[in-house]
This record gives sequence, C-alpha cells and structure tokens, in this order.
Amino acid sequence: MLLEGKVAIVTGGTRGIGLSIVKSFLAEGAKVALCGSREETVTKALDAIKAENPKAPVLGYWPDLTSNEAVSAMVNSVVETWGTLDVMVNNAGISQSTPLLDYTPEEFQRAMDLNVTAVFNGCQAAARIMAPKGTGVILNTSSMVSIYGQKSGVGYPTSKFAVNGLTKSLARELAPQGVRVNAVAPGVTSTDMVAALPEAVVQRISMGIAMGRPGEPQEVADAFVYLASDKASYVTGVVLSVDGGALF
Ligand code: NAD
Repeated sequence: MLLEGKVAIVTGGTRGIGLSIVKSFLAEGAKVALCGSREETVTKALDAIKAENPKAPVLGYWPDLTSNEAVSAMVNSVVETWGTLDVMVNNAGISQSTPLLDYTPEEFQRAMDLNVTAVFNGCQAAARIMAPKGTGVILNTSSMVSIYGQKSGVGYPTSKFAVNGLTKSLARELAPQGVRVNAVAPGVTSTDMVAALPEAVVQRISMGIAMGRPGEPQEVADAFVYLASDKASYVTGVVLSVDGGALF
C-alpha cells in the first residue's frame, strides 16, 4: 500500500473530491482526519465510511478553516491522537459564477477567505509539525480555472491562482526542510454539483474537454494518492492538471 502508516488530514472531506481522497487514502493504508463545515455533514461522512469498514482509522473535525487558531488546534489534536502528521490536503473550496458588476465585496471576500486564507492556515499549521521532523507532504486543490480563468465569477479563478502561488512558493521555501508542496488542478469533475446538471449541459461542457466527458472524483483522488506517496519523492512545486485535456 502506498500510504501505509501515514497520518493525513483532508479538509472538505465530507463529499465530492475530498471524500474520494479520504477513501483512497484509507484504502492505501493511511489514518485520515476529515474536516467539513458542519458537525452533521462530518458525522454523515464518518457513518458512510464506517458502514463500509467499521475499523477504518478515521476522525472528523469541523473547525472554522478561516481561523488560524482553529486550524492549528485541529492539527494539534490530530498529532496528539496519532503522534504525527505526514500529509495535509487543503481541499475545501467554494466556486462562484457572479458577473463582475453584480459582485458584492462580501462575496469576493468569501472566496478569498475559504479558498486562500484557509489554505494558508492549513499550510502553516502543517509546516509547524512537518518542518521540524524534516519530512511531510502538503497538497492543495487548485482548479483548471487557475490556468484558463473563467468567463464569470472572477473571485473563484483569482483565488485558485493564489493557491498556485502559495503552492509554488512554499515548495521552494520548505524543500530544504524535507517538505514537498504540490497542487492538483481538477477540470470539470462529477461531484454532486455537476451530477445535478441536465444531460444537455453536461454534453455542452464536455465539448470543451479533449476526452469528451467530465472526470470522476476517483480519477482526481488518484492524483492525490500519487503526490502524497513516496512515488512522487522528487516532485515538488507542481500544479498537476487532471482535466481530460481541457480545451477552454
Ligand atoms: P463540494 O462542494 O462537493 O465539497 C466541498 C467540500 O468543502 C465539502 O466537504 C464542504 O464541507 C467543504 N466546505 C465548503 N465550504 C466550507 C466552509 N466554509 N468551511 C469548511 N469546509 C467547507 O466540492 P468539490 O467539487 O468536491 O470541490 C472540492 C475542491 O475541488 C474545491 O477546492 C474546488 O474548488 C475544487 N474543484 C472542483 C471542481 C469540480 O468540478 N467539482 C473542479 C475544479 C476544482
């Protein structure tokens, strides 16, 4: 197994891409703490995992990810429970599609708070544990919009460009301390949001994808497994596109 004995945290781990990462990490032998925004959704995700495997080593948290103190406290709690932290996945994020002239400052700020500040908080809290021990992996969820931009909802691509900036800069800052930092940039992925779209809309979106279909959360999670594992021991500072050859 690729992650035997590793301790991981996955934010936004209650559904979608994050839940697939959690399940894949567990299948590869890791212990996983998943985070969600509310106790109810965290409990639901834990129950679903335990229904498949009652002995799965999984914990649930619902800190305010935009609070540096709350994220630190959550990371410290995981380290107290399992003794260390090997892999930090900063995956929670919100998307936006509001046209520029309709944006409120508050909406723009919400994207910055969860998609950028929370990622900074996760990177910093993880590095406090990983850098002194000289090993660890930090993975951030970016998006294909961090490469192409998007036509409406400028806060979302802006925040994901920032995720790439955090990733590439921290990869350089933390490499001397043995910590690798990478990002995965998913394309259109069949999470609940995409699954709820009418078939005609999915077909139109798929025309902009070389492979002609949306990705599955598992296909994105597989990239996280690779980057978290020792198979990627010489990989740092990359933004790995998993987008079926997006043509946008
Ligand atoms: P999702 O909406 O299915 O899940 C989002 C997760 O983030 C949930 O676990 C939720 O609990 C958590 N979350 C949301 N708001 C939160 C908050 N305020 N505080 C704490 N946690 C919160 O999303 P998804 O599609 O699985 O997306 C996961 C990541 O992938 C995001 O960063 C998103 O930007 C990125 N992404 C998704 C797609 C896609 O097509 N689905 C494409 C590119 C990038």
